[in-house]
Amino acid sequence: MSILVVGSVAFDSLETPSGKRERVLGGAATHFALAASFFTDVRVVGVVGEDFLPEYELVLTSKGVDTTGIERAPGKSFHWTGSYVKDLNEADTLATDLNVFAEFSPKIPESYKDSEYLFLANIDPVLQAQVRAQMPNAKMVAGDTMNYWISAHRENLLKVLRELDVLVINDKEVRMLSGETNALVAARKVLELGPKSLVVKYGEHGSAAYFSKDSFSDGETRKLFRAPATPQEEVVDPTGAGDSFAGGFYGYIASQGKLTPEVFRTAMFYGCVLGSLSVEEFGTARLQRTTRAEIEERFQHLKEISHL
Ligand code: AMP
Repeated sequence: MSILVVGSVAFDSLETPSGKRERVLGGAATHFALAASFFTDVRVVGVVGEDFLPEYELVLTSKGVDTTGIERAPGKSFHWTGSYVKDLNEADTLATDLNVFAEFSPKIPESYKDSEYLFLANIDPVLQAQVRAQMPNAKMVAGDTMNYWISAHRENLLKVLRELDVLVINDKEVRMLSGETNALVAARKVLELGPKSLVVKYGEHGSAAYFSKDSFSDGETRKLFRAPATPQEEVVDPTGAGDSFAGGFYGYIASQGKLTPEVFRTAMFYGCVLGSLSVEEFGTARLQRTTRAEIEERFQHLKEISHL
């Protein structure tokens, strides 16, 4: 089963309590693709500039990720500057330079068209919608977004939400999108905007899934599922934790080929595992050297600390 992901492929300049890094490989689609590559085939749609040297592409292709759909354009790649110095749980965006993404019009390569699983990672909702429209036969569509798009591009985002089987966002984004502070009320209001299921990431406090009557075809009655996070002594760089969660979550679902309540719940645990690994080093470094055995070990640990 293949996942097609569209989203930012970027360079990130980061500052955290552990230090500073300039222009490391990042982007929502990059983190997502690396995490999902442990479970299934991943194909990326995005755009990069002339500064995207072969060594960066190799980070993805060496994990088997298909980069045919990453277009090269004159100019610079997307560049995000963020700081976690004030609060490790919340990125403070210092600059968002869209660069080549400002003029991007996604085209799906012919070889990607049979992808059954579509993931609309964090990027302009107009681009998410364009990709969705070019993949009418996708069996499942999930997506992400962030405050930048929720506040200034809300109308476009609302159109994308109506198309989603699963929306994967963090708790602050849920509050911003719904205008509500109570977690249950906020989740209900977001589900009313269209996604059949909602996965909310609570950072170090784990994640929760909120289900609607349309979440599963075989009539699950459970409306809520909570998964823990692996306790971490040190968080070096939280950038990409959310995308890595989404990659682990969706990669596992695609690898199973069928969305049952049990697959969904197990996928939440794999999401936690990939998210927790990604924060241990700057940028993509930790996922680049992760093994499937290590993922399984952490998955078992997560089960042990959360089951009666
Ligand atoms: P997260 O998983 O939420 O920490 O996402 C971090 C990634 O999102 C970084 O690698 C950034 O390059 C990327 N990013 C930051 N702002 C935006 C934006 N406005 N649109 C798309 N991607 C972004």
